[in-house]
Amino acid sequence: MTKKATEQMLSLLDEEYGTTKEGFLHFKDWQLLLAIMLSAQSTDKQVEQALPGLWERYQQIEQLAEAKEEEIESYIRGIGLYKSKAKNMKKCCGQLLADFEGKVPMTIPELVTLAGVGRKSATLFLADAYGIPGVTVDTHVLRVARRIGWAKAKTPVAVEKELMEVIPEEHWNRLNFQLIYHGRAVCTARKAYCERCLLEPWCEQNLEE
Ligand code: SF4
Repeated sequence: MTKKATEQMLSLLDEEYGTTKEGFLHFKDWQLLLAIMLSAQSTDKQVEQALPGLWERYQQIEQLAEAKEEEIESYIRGIGLYKSKAKNMKKCCGQLLADFEGKVPMTIPELVTLAGVGRKSATLFLADAYGIPGVTVDTHVLRVARRIGWAKAKTPVAVEKELMEVIPEEHWNRLNFQLIYHGRAVCTARKAYCERCLLEPWCEQNLEE
């Protein structure tokens, strides 16, 4: 893969999917973290439907830390893994109050000490909240990056490293949502629709899983 081909594909992704993600900009820091936590293994629509009711009921972090898990569950029932997420949300809010004075920390090592927050959510949070550059690799990013030829590894952490080497830093934060959108719409898990893909002329099309 040449540098020129990569640049060409990145600028097409910018044109097609934009350079800023819609969404959680008006949230408080802890709300943003919980929204990212809720998004794992759920659709954007499910999360968008649940959030207004959730934030109306729990306007302060203390309220969530003290809430009963069953009550939190009732607000997020439409979301994947809602039971464990309700448990983690309560615990995470308690940890934020006890260990970080109610503020979400700004480093990955601190963030991953929180219940329900893994490396991927931590990186996404830092990118969305503070614009701190990071490459976040989920199942779509992993698959599409490997097919394109930007990565060869099979694990998210190793693919993250490869992407940080080949993708210019200014694209890191937006690469995540661009490849997720592309992975849902065109380069899907079930089938790569190369014939209608804007990246087709440059993509290596490594389709063997
Ligand atoms: S050309 Fe095919 S393999 Fe490459 S990104 Fe597009 S759909 Fe995926």
